Amino acid sequence: MSIFSNALSQFRSAAQYLSLSPYVLGRLQRPERVLQFSFPVTMDSGTIRMFDGYRVQYSSARGPYKGGLRFHPQASLDEVKALAFLMMIKCAVVGIPLGGSKGGIAVDPKTLSPAELERLTRALTRQLAPFIGPEKDIPAPDVNTNPEVMGWVMDEYAQIVGHSVPGVVTGKPLSLGGSAGRSAATGQGGLYVLAELARKLKLNPKKTRVVVQGFGNVGYHFAKLAYGAGYRIVGLSDSKGGIYAPNGQSMDPAHVMEQKRARGLIAGCYCVGSVCDCKNYRALSNKQILAAPADVLVLAALENQLTGTNAGRVKARVVLEMANGPVTPEADVKLAKRGVIVVPDVLSNAGGVTVSYFELVQNLQQYYWTENEVLQKLKPIMVQAFAKVWQRAQELKVNLRTAALVVAAERLAQAIEARERS
Ligand code: GLU
Repeated sequence: MSIFSNALSQFRSAAQYLSLSPYVLGRLQRPERVLQFSFPVTMDSGTIRMFDGYRVQYSSARGPYKGGLRFHPQASLDEVKALAFLMMIKCAVVGIPLGGSKGGIAVDPKTLSPAELERLTRALTRQLAPFIGPEKDIPAPDVNTNPEVMGWVMDEYAQIVGHSVPGVVTGKPLSLGGSAGRSAATGQGGLYVLAELARKLKLNPKKTRVVVQGFGNVGYHFAKLAYGAGYRIVGLSDSKGGIYAPNGQSMDPAHVMEQKRARGLIAGCYCVGSVCDCKNYRALSNKQILAAPADVLVLAALENQLTGTNAGRVKARVVLEMANGPVTPEADVKLAKRGVIVVPDVLSNAGGVTVSYFELVQNLQQYYWTENEVLQKLKPIMVQAFAKVWQRAQELKVNLRTAALVVAAERLAQAIEARERS
């Protein structure tokens, strides 16, 4: 199964609702540039290991290429192409003036020492250097990469070009020109979207049971903010398993994080300090957490989590995609048949790239905003994007994913026509 072909077939079904020219359709179904690297890195033992990496620069029609860099054993060219396509769509859905790209290295970073990880990142940056920059392509964190990794990219790039260029990457540490609010931005953006949807569905947050799959940067921040906004967090999970409250009692994600740090596990009891409640909370496997009773299921782990096989077991009424591509096309069909609303990744997780855009703007202006200013600018973008996608879904009688693709395709087509066909 090719993830990229799946993404394109979903795009083609959405494109049926628009009268796009064959030229635009052809343009949007091909990446503009595909880079593939093989490069050596010296390991701590002194041996040399070869690594394979990819960067797909999918579209620059609406602005410089923009997208994360992931380190994952399953990273492949097909996956990176699909993710770069999604970045193009995402930037268009929220209307920020950026294109789409994505990069990946096939590696399990947990098998590397910190020094090896740094050498790997710097070696990758030397490969990428001719192709990145604030006006060309701007990488950012993604699966298994973080602000520290972005700091190394920025520093290596500065050494190559001979001066500091903060806008070459986003998601940097604050001390290097990162933006206030960037770490929590994806979660925050998702919560703004959920609040809008809750209004439409007349869901009362206090009565809304939420299960969050994934406890990394996105899942943790989402859960923490949702808890703060009064939602009932009844289930949380990480790659090793989850914790669930069958009686619907909410849990504070900050306490679960403390528990994870102290014990290395989320699963089992719910502990506040040294006091643990093992009666009202129980351990659930990753498989079970997806099917646990809830009103909203938030997918904040990896792609392909709900498939044709397990989508039928989902009990939630809403699935919020906070990871990229967590619902397969087969699962999408099954969920739609059962009336489950899926909020697509290109809308619900677009808060991250939106604040990345703010970071770039701040870097170029050399003038920095407070967290409050960042949030005040993020909220209307997410609220308007939701309203536009919702409205298109009602008009065309399609699901939110198709509507988001329609909104994005319209904006991309306008840019392509204006640049290339006038
Ligand atoms: N990796 C994130 C995403 O998939 C952020 C990308 C960015 O900030 O450029 O949306």
